[in-house]
Amino acid sequence: MPLTPFNIPQAHHLIGGAWVQAADTLPVTDPSDNSPLTTIGRGTAADIDRAVAAAQTARDGAWGAMTALDRGRILTRIGQAVLTHVDTLAQLESRDVGKPLTQARADAVALARYLEFYGGAADKITGETIPYLDGYTVYTLREPHGVTGHIIPWNYPMQIIGRSVGAALAMGNACVLKPAEDACLTALAFAQIATDAGLPDGALNVVTGLGAEAGAALAAHPGIQHMSFTGSVATGEAIQAAAAKNVIPVTLELGGKSPQLVFDDADLDRALPFLVNAGIQNAGQTCSASSRILVQRGIYARVRDRMADAYRRLRTGPALEDFNVGPLISAKQKSIVEGFLDQGADLTIAAQGQIVTDAAGHYVAPTLFDDVPPDHALAQREIFGPVQVLIPFDDEAQAVEIANGTDFGLVASVWSENGARQMRLARALKSGQVFINNYGAGGGVELPFGGVGKSGHGREKGFEALYGFSTLKTVAAYHG
Ligand code: ADP
Repeated sequence: MPLTPFNIPQAHHLIGGAWVQAADTLPVTDPSDNSPLTTIGRGTAADIDRAVAAAQTARDGAWGAMTALDRGRILTRIGQAVLTHVDTLAQLESRDVGKPLTQARADAVALARYLEFYGGAADKITGETIPYLDGYTVYTLREPHGVTGHIIPWNYPMQIIGRSVGAALAMGNACVLKPAEDACLTALAFAQIATDAGLPDGALNVVTGLGAEAGAALAAHPGIQHMSFTGSVATGEAIQAAAAKNVIPVTLELGGKSPQLVFDDADLDRALPFLVNAGIQNAGQTCSASSRILVQRGIYARVRDRMADAYRRLRTGPALEDFNVGPLISAKQKSIVEGFLDQGADLTIAAQGQIVTDAAGHYVAPTLFDDVPPDHALAQREIFGPVQVLIPFDDEAQAVEIANGTDFGLVASVWSENGARQMRLARALKSGQVFINNYGAGGGVELPFGGVGKSGHGREKGFEALYGFSTLKTVAAYHG
């Protein structure tokens, strides 16, 4: 069946509120069995030009003139509409990116929640008044950047659209979205839902296509005033370099090598599911995946054995059949992950999960490595697959040194019942988020998210994202 829900024609971009036939197309396959699904448009620099112009027209017209209250109402309506389409969106995402159905459903619900959150927040962004010299009144205004570019990856399209486009629209920006070539279908469906819910023409434009073509054209476009990017470090560097030419701000979320630190006094029954799930959710293709499990030596063998038991029970298979783990997104990603597994040939495997299908999808068995030196490639590089390494440590100081000993710093968690240690580590860990006795806190849209080091800069989610998608104007009035 061709995947064209919501009556979206195949291989079209959404520009200025109209579906525009793409001149060239790209094939889309199902990662669960490699079968052809549909085609998408292969956008060009000219398509990006048109999309940026349409966004500027929206900024100069109905969208730019709208009050914050009305923008918020529209976003809230879009969120409610997304909720009525959760099952369709989940099916679409499962087939397009190979995400197990339950996880795809959670992404659709999260997309709705972002729209509700930012819909409610749109009219609550205020400036401040600043006490100043006699005879002056000084205040600040938060204003939208104007036209914002959004280049997103294939691992969580719906959630990243929610946190990026949702926040940008709430501030009154007009957006040009370039989804990843491997994961465009829910982005296109979302654009149709948003249009049907009353988003003015041109406030959101979607151009599909390749990173080196449509993506690079968007990143370098002189008509955008802010760029938001989630993806690999190498592409993030290229995006920042392109943005530098136009002297525009960028938000970069580039992944991580996020550790969980498990101390002797941890509540292991509570910790165990988090230790494993944070590594294998979405087949490990998660920026905030926890790929390093640091365990204090006194309980190391116990944690390893319990995690190994959990790994042996993990089942990997077609996304729509909703196993614990689905396929990887593509043959390319599978070969990258297998390359890392080869690099682990000198290590001991504590346990692997099972692959329960013969389908020709991009399956890799979840793999847990035992007693990995902190400087090993598998403990340093982002793998983006269902692979975790166990690393023993002796004391708190060593745990911090290992945890902080990579180029990244996105998420970290501490498992300990010692309150003073929790507070010390929350400060000592170099990370954009630190969780204590949990991992991810359910991924709340309210919680500012972003990294330090090569994990990127800028903050998404929560109110922080709205500050990022706005610029601050200071007004100083002399009245005597
Ligand atoms: P991956 O290699 O895992 O696909 P990328 O970081 O390359 O990760 O991709 C994330 C997003 O960046 C995708 O939408 C992709 O099309 C886009 N992209 C890739 N290369 C470029 C580039 N040179 N300029 C702009 N966007 C790019």
